[in-house]
Amino acid sequence: MTGTVGVLALQGSYNEHIAVLRRLGWKGVEVRKPEQLNDLGGLIIPGGESTTMAKLAEYHNLFPALRDFVKTGKPVWGTCAGLIFLADKAVGQKTGGQELVGGLDCTVHRNFFGSQVESFETELSVPELAEREGGQPTFRGVFIRAPAVLEAGPNVQVLASYSFPLSKPSTTDSSVVEEGKVIVAVKQGNLLGTAFHPELTADTRWHSFFLKLLTPNGEEASTSAAGPEKPDRIDLPVFVD
Ligand code: GLN
Repeated sequence: MTGTVGVLALQGSYNEHIAVLRRLGWKGVEVRKPEQLNDLGGLIIPGGESTTMAKLAEYHNLFPALRDFVKTGKPVWGTCAGLIFLADKAVGQKTGGQELVGGLDCTVHRNFFGSQVESFETELSVPELAEREGGQPTFRGVFIRAPAVLEAGPNVQVLASYSFPLSKPSTTDSSVVEEGKVIVAVKQGNLLGTAFHPELTADTRWHSFFLKLLTPNGEEASTSAAGPEKPDRIDLPVFVD
């Protein structure tokens, strides 16, 4: 069904994604078994812990089905650990590495921003998102033990980057501040990847952006998948402006 969105529900923030989908009038279907991918129009791979998620995906024999799903060209969005899953290459992995789904021509550093205590929030510049979805030109990026894209192939569109001070300048000239910059949101065809957690904010524009990939001609989602009414109760977000 074009209008049905699956959310990989092995571990991590799948409930939060389903809540945002519901807020937008869509029903998110929890996916734990390969056959549950068959009738989906698109898939979200949530954030969480990619090694754990990979172990569970292996246990449920999901990798071949996930790879086949990506190959169909249907929209797939990976957030945080989900972005790691979608990358063709990951560095900074635990010894022995972990299996990846791949498809996104990127090299991702699994814990680029450090450990849990180095988690942070920041306003990201998101010009393409704002052009498509309206609203302000920035998006509140919630980075939790976040990965980052170190290299992206020629067919990968960069939708957001994050700049950060590299280290204190060793010179006395305080105007010299070195900056590092990494990619934190990408799109390659129907594959979308974000290093941060849009499902933990009140701003639903990344979800709407993704949902439009499922209905490129602007058709409505299938009525069996999309609730006709918007819920009157907002059980999220964790972050409100
Ligand atoms: N860096 C984490 C990992 O390797 C991902 C963190 C997240 O999804 N919030 O899985």
